[in-house]
Amino acid sequence: MANDEKTPRAYLYSDTEPSEEQTKRLEAFLERTYRQVIPLRWTQSPGIKDGFRLEVGSDVYDWTLEGRVRQFQERLNRIDNSEQSVIPLIRRVVNEFQPTVEREEKGEAIFVGDEIARVRGLPGVQYGEVVEFANGVHGMVQDLREDSVGCVLFGANGDVAEGSIVKRTGRTAGMPVGIRFLGRVVNALGEPIDGKGAIEHDAYRPIEVAAPGILDRSAVNRPLETGILCIDSMFPIGRGQRELIIGDRQTGKTAIAIDTIINQNRRNVICIYCAIGQKASSVAQIAANLEAHGALQHTIIVSACASDPAAEQYIAPYAATALGEHFMNTGRDVLIVYDDLSKHAIAYRALSLLLERSPGREAYPGDVFYLHSRLLERSAHLSEELGGGSMTALPIIETQAGDVSAYIPTNVISITDGQIYLESNLFFSGQRPAVNVGLSVSRVGGAAQTKAMKQSAGSLRIDLAQFREMEAFTQFSSDLDEVTKRQLVYGQGLMRLLRQDQYKPFSQHRMVILLIAALNHTMENIPIDDLLKYREALLDSLEGKYADICRRLDRNGKLLDRDKDLLLKEAKDFAARWLHDGGAAAEAGEQEENADGER
Ligand code: ATP
Ligand code: MG
Repeated sequence: MANDEKTPRAYLYSDTEPSEEQTKRLEAFLERTYRQVIPLRWTQSPGIKDGFRLEVGSDVYDWTLEGRVRQFQERLNRIDNSEQSVIPLIRRVVNEFQPTVEREEKGEAIFVGDEIARVRGLPGVQYGEVVEFANGVHGMVQDLREDSVGCVLFGANGDVAEGSIVKRTGRTAGMPVGIRFLGRVVNALGEPIDGKGAIEHDAYRPIEVAAPGILDRSAVNRPLETGILCIDSMFPIGRGQRELIIGDRQTGKTAIAIDTIINQNRRNVICIYCAIGQKASSVAQIAANLEAHGALQHTIIVSACASDPAAEQYIAPYAATALGEHFMNTGRDVLIVYDDLSKHAIAYRALSLLLERSPGREAYPGDVFYLHSRLLERSAHLSEELGGGSMTALPIIETQAGDVSAYIPTNVISITDGQIYLESNLFFSGQRPAVNVGLSVSRVGGAAQTKAMKQSAGSLRIDLAQFREMEAFTQFSSDLDEVTKRQLVYGQGLMRLLRQDQYKPFSQHRMVILLIAALNHTMENIPIDDLLKYREALLDSLEGKYADICRRLDRNGKLLDRDKDLLLKEAKDFAARWLHDGGAAAEAGEQEENADGER
């Protein structure tokens, strides 16, 4: 404590001078508390109407009327309102209330800069504790030194001036959580920013908690369908898994996350989209798109925009995770998207540099790995004893010119269970989603796929790998033998079939039908430019004919051999018909059906 070295002084403030008797009692109290004789000095303060205020070093003992009323107020606020009737409860609290001499630590802001403040005093404050400045602005302690502490500030730091008094709160940062957050847009502090009014919360959760341990987890074994053919077939994501989406700017990273959220419609998965450092207009657009596709009602958007304080951008993903944990701990399945963690690391770097922590590689502070590891470790598939809930994380990282070996990308790659690597070249050549099949991976893999999907997607990855190799080899040779040519055409066809528009997730049965038809070479003779048209026609036709098989596939994810043979035979027949009348008949048939539907 600060008063160990030299004798501290005690200052007493009150309206009237204390009697000899009172002074003696106070001095005895000081000697008892600090185990030394402390001289007491009285200052008259007419502002204090009843009682007194005693300050010793950075400790404050408040026995003013105001102080006692405040204590009482705080006590009332702490009442557990789970009891049915509040009247007896209030009566009990009032009866039992005994004001005590509370010790309170206070400090003083000695420097206020961009979004940070340095505070002297507060010898007992803890890392991560929330402190309160004189005018109600809150800060969080992020840097502990021998003689001062560094805080990041929430809200407008123009309101905090050097010399202002700082108080400890004894709490770490928390977040209101609850079911009524669904469908809402909130900031990193849990306050609504969508103009739809206040949100009633069910509980408070600290934004930083330890991740579930090994025994609390069970293996990832249930799929979280993205509805994106290329991902569900080759890089399946399981509930509780962490799959990184990585790529340069404007390669469709956000699109994959949003499509996955839309695909959770009617699947009973709660989605949380955490936007970090984006433009407010982009976040508004995302909210509008989710609403338009009926996905906002099961989604919570937590947004810390580029214009918000860096401290809010820094805590946003932890706050979003606290929301997710609230649902996971009650046995629900949660999907959480962090868009994106590169900007999160940059916000943290800015704060660290302002707090004068020493910069390391790429000017990030030394603990930047821990920044993301402690965040992503909180995603889990909980054991049955803990309710069996899950939280699946889709962190997003933006690379510069495809450089995955930069500091932050390598960190996050090593923390996650796989990555979906998006490439600008593919994106600009029209291959969207622009997934690089060679560099993407899901380390959970087949364990998180339905049987039907595993059965039907079997050789897709290998076929595409062979195609890529052959493509590279044959790039410069002009005359190719028939077999090679056929393989190239087949590979190009597969790549074309993996193209998928935004906001159009495939259902399970559509993916299975498509994979069976494609991987059994039934589409080989369809001209590549007709393939997408053919895909739609084939799916519509088979869906209409075998509705019961489709329903079974969607419901239990199993594919009987008999059904598979049936689908394959029909796919072959459809191709033959299509080729026979140049696509015209099939299309005409479809138009008739549409017309029927309208009538
Ligand atoms: P940023 O780096 O700006 O965050 P991003 O990588 O998140 O970009 P998106 O915003 O998802 O990329 O997508 C970029 C553009 O590409 C958007 O206009 C989007 O509509 C379009 N796009 C993304 N995916 C597809 C797709 N599968 N089909 C067609 N267009 C797409
Ligand atoms: Mg984006």
